[in-house]
Amino acid sequence: MTEPDLFQVVNPATEEVIETVAMATVAETDAAIARAKAAFDSWRRVAPADRARLLRAFAAAVDSDLENLAQLEIANAGHTVGNARWEAGNARDVIEYYAAAPERLFGRQIPVAGGIDVTFQEPLGVVGIIVPWNFPMPIAAWGFAPALAAGNTVVLKPAELTPLTALRLAELARIAGIPDGVFQVLPGRGPVVGQRFVTHPDVRKVVFTGSTRVGRAVAAGCAEQVKQVTLELGGKNANIVFADAELARAAATAPYAVFDNAGQDCCARSRILVQESVFEEFMALLEPAVLGVRVGDPRDEKTEMGPLISAAQRDRVASFVPDGAPVAVQGLTPEGRGFWFPPTVLSPVDQDSPAFTEEIFGPVVAVVPFRDEDDALRIANRTEYGLSGSIWTRDVGRALRVARGVEAGNLSVNSHSSVRYSTPFGGFKQSGLGRELGPDALSAFTETKNVFISTEE
Ligand code: NDP
Repeated sequence: MTEPDLFQVVNPATEEVIETVAMATVAETDAAIARAKAAFDSWRRVAPADRARLLRAFAAAVDSDLENLAQLEIANAGHTVGNARWEAGNARDVIEYYAAAPERLFGRQIPVAGGIDVTFQEPLGVVGIIVPWNFPMPIAAWGFAPALAAGNTVVLKPAELTPLTALRLAELARIAGIPDGVFQVLPGRGPVVGQRFVTHPDVRKVVFTGSTRVGRAVAAGCAEQVKQVTLELGGKNANIVFADAELARAAATAPYAVFDNAGQDCCARSRILVQESVFEEFMALLEPAVLGVRVGDPRDEKTEMGPLISAAQRDRVASFVPDGAPVAVQGLTPEGRGFWFPPTVLSPVDQDSPAFTEEIFGPVVAVVPFRDEDDALRIANRTEYGLSGSIWTRDVGRALRVARGVEAGNLSVNSHSSVRYSTPFGGFKQSGLGRELGPDALSAFTETKNVFISTEE
């Protein structure tokens, strides 16, 4: 007998061990995939209205457990209480939204000669979902809710660092009556459990959210078996502020667009591009806004930014702000234990420096000036990433021109919102492949089958 692989789950705000979780082995992963495969045949046959009812019951179970889920995330990921409650609510809403899908999984009837032609949206089978640590609940739900609604069964691997809410979601699914084997959560190591989703022939689709480095390897592995894959990867998103913008609001909101979740957000607007004629004015408005971000105990309702997820992540973030870095503004962090890093603004920065080109995934933002629209687009698009971005201007034509010109999947004008469960989300270029959420997410979890029925005598 080999020793069980036990992982100590740590509260990043206190560095205390809060739970010990057994990491699944390859054999346990294979057994779970076999259970998921066995469950597929009956799950896909559950009548659409009944599958819808079960998903609504699941959403109701999540709703009744909202505060518990939020508290688990505060302790496990250091998320602020406001964010954690939103995230639990988002998981509920996503399940509820896709509960409407089983009864609306329409095919088409296509006019042809000699008969009728219809299409069916068939489920794929077992779907493997690999979740990162930055938004454990929402990212899990964006994968499993549409996958289950379309009639697939799901095996889900949370990040090692943040397994607790995913494990609770699996319990809530069981309490709601989702049949055994239909939705299983397997805490485990990426190269063990995650990799097995990629190599196991009975997993017919992998949904991966995480770093571009691992995402590339996941896609290459899936190609071996011509396995479908959705990738949600990194971002180096631009917040473009034109001189005609409502400058005070653009400056007041910019810190939250990058420091929310301590910057551990693939949609973080970690590059601020400001038109040169208002650059100084913007910087003067930005400083008090940055210093006003409340960093501290995530359980306190007034807190706006908590700690980073781990000591390793803090070290990685700190490496982008070495001694002598051009720090224009820097906030404070609590004293004592916890993986803290202060909100930090870098300016002026070299546009080839790692702080301007790489995803930092921490509370660090770089601000640069631009001349005109063309220059703004050139700087914004000078990255391999293309996930999100913001445009601040009062000129509607310019807002639309620039929105069409930025090579990214999710843009907001005079706002920083990226994610709504009812609208599509995903990246251009090396930020990803495919789309999650919105009305079309089911197509990522189904195959189109065409059937011709002859009407000839
Ligand atoms: P990873 O890409 O390593 O982790 C994401 C998920 O993939 C985790 O569940 C991880 O498991 C799993 N994984 C790791 N290796 C493999 C593998 N070989 N096969 C299959 N699955 C695997 O991200 P990190 O946590 O290391 O974060 C590093 C950087 O990546 C961050 O600083 C950030 O820049 C970026 N990132 C981007 C995210 C996004 O939302 N786009 C999310 C997270 C990170 P395990 O937990 O065991 O490592």
